[in-house]
Amino acid sequence: MDSFNPDDVAIRSGHFIGGEYVDESERGGERRIEVARPSDGVIYASVPVAGGEMVDRAVENAWQAFRTSGWARMAPRERAKILRRFAELVEADAPFLGRLEALGSTRPIAQAVGWDVPFTAEGIRFYAEFADKVGGDVAATDHDHLGMTIAEPYGVIGAIAPWNFPLVMASWKIAPALAAGNAVVLKPSEMTPFSVLRLAELAVQAGVPAGIFNVIQGDGRVTGDELVRHPKISKVTFTGSTRTGAAIMAACANSGTKPVTLELGGKSPQIVFADAPRLDDVARRIAGAITGNAGQVCVAGSRLLVERSLAEPLAERIGKVFAELKPGATWAAGTTLSPIISAPQAARIEGIVGRTLEAGATLRFGGVRADVGANGAFYTPTLLTDVTAHSEAVREEVFGPVLTLQTFDTEEEALALAQHPEYGLAAGVHTADLGRALRLVRGLEAGTVWVNRYGRTSDFMIPTGGYKRSGIGKDLGRQAYEANLRFKSVLIDLRP
Ligand code: NAD
Repeated sequence: MDSFNPDDVAIRSGHFIGGEYVDESERGGERRIEVARPSDGVIYASVPVAGGEMVDRAVENAWQAFRTSGWARMAPRERAKILRRFAELVEADAPFLGRLEALGSTRPIAQAVGWDVPFTAEGIRFYAEFADKVGGDVAATDHDHLGMTIAEPYGVIGAIAPWNFPLVMASWKIAPALAAGNAVVLKPSEMTPFSVLRLAELAVQAGVPAGIFNVIQGDGRVTGDELVRHPKISKVTFTGSTRTGAAIMAACANSGTKPVTLELGGKSPQIVFADAPRLDDVARRIAGAITGNAGQVCVAGSRLLVERSLAEPLAERIGKVFAELKPGATWAAGTTLSPIISAPQAARIEGIVGRTLEAGATLRFGGVRADVGANGAFYTPTLLTDVTAHSEAVREEVFGPVLTLQTFDTEEEALALAQHPEYGLAAGVHTADLGRALRLVRGLEAGTVWVNRYGRTSDFMIPTGGYKRSGIGKDLGRQAYEANLRFKSVLIDLRP
């Protein structure tokens, strides 16, 4: 994928409600938020902030579409056909959609076009396949009764997405919700509002009825909160920080005890034993898991736990991989290290690293901003050693390319170090010993464990989601589809 000129991408702003762009701020009715490009800090557009009235308009629209458009009632195979067409349109739009994604987010163009867009399309296709395959059960009752569970859509799902993979994270919410026959009102992050608008446009082009997939723009405090609390939202699905997740859960409890799926933060360990095969590959994997999207990944492998004898050779190799990365604007074809999403987030990373060093850690690599000659915020891949479980960089989700290294001597010690007091999103185990790998798989308190790899494949049947304060419920897999359905029990007396 070639480099592109960021000033040449046409931006359409507004909410997307009932199949149309809506922007009341043009008539002075709504406040606006300016949106900056992470790569150079240039403000390139703005979005309106939906207040209570606009949120109500979107949810009412979705509710009417749910009841009257036929989406929920059509033959599931027809729904699947429309969603497959939607996936095709997404794929065909990769040159534009990829640019839109790269321009406003931290995703370099090569990755946006090569991974984010096709992964989004494939996720939609995956859930289309569920539409006519999961529908309920017939129970094993006695001969005089017929017992069934019927799967039904909820109605209107309120979806709230983060900024770190705007298209992919949104697709994990909307695809199972739509396939199950629901309507959706999606609020993207105010920092990355545009690519999902295009997604909603493409859905309508594919034949998803107007009003079934709506997008509202705004901040979390007003727009997100209004959406979560709206009485006609039947279920909330959220991806973002643990702190916001807790606020959303409380709002759900206080506005109709709504069910909620929460995909939250993490502080995932990578455990490397001295017998791990092919050390160069391991180093590449470990480095990749903390530098992908500049560490702004919920499952970033941010805590390296390594058997003592291997610590030095592994650290050295990780440093070499770090040095190969090329920070640059997301619109430059050769960029392999993403910018940090915003200046305040880069300052936060600096703060955590600085305080961890002051408390006694050693800076092995990085620890400074990368100068790419623009006003963006770039942080060099960083390795901190001489840290403990109490070090700030070990405890806190940094959401930047910052790796900490701790050593262990025994399997028990490795497991004890791996368990984080709060988070349990993912973990990596690198060893040639299958028994040991499986003992750790059983012992680790994490929603996902990768063995001799790190990161997901396009095997969408394997869900993702956290233990402990990393979340409730799952995205992807059968679980996410079923979480967008409610189950009605029916028992019929057959006696004459
Ligand atoms: P965030 O919690 O600040 O914001 C996420 C979304 O919630 C945004 O759209 C925001 O506007 C909205 N929001 C904020 N306050 C709200 C409120 N009170 N009510 C309703 N909505 C509100 O998170 P972020 O900084 O955008 O994303 C980074 C975080 O997301 C990290 O912690 C990361 O680990 C997590 N994340 C988790 C997963 C996962 O699958 N577990 C995936 C990606 C990101």
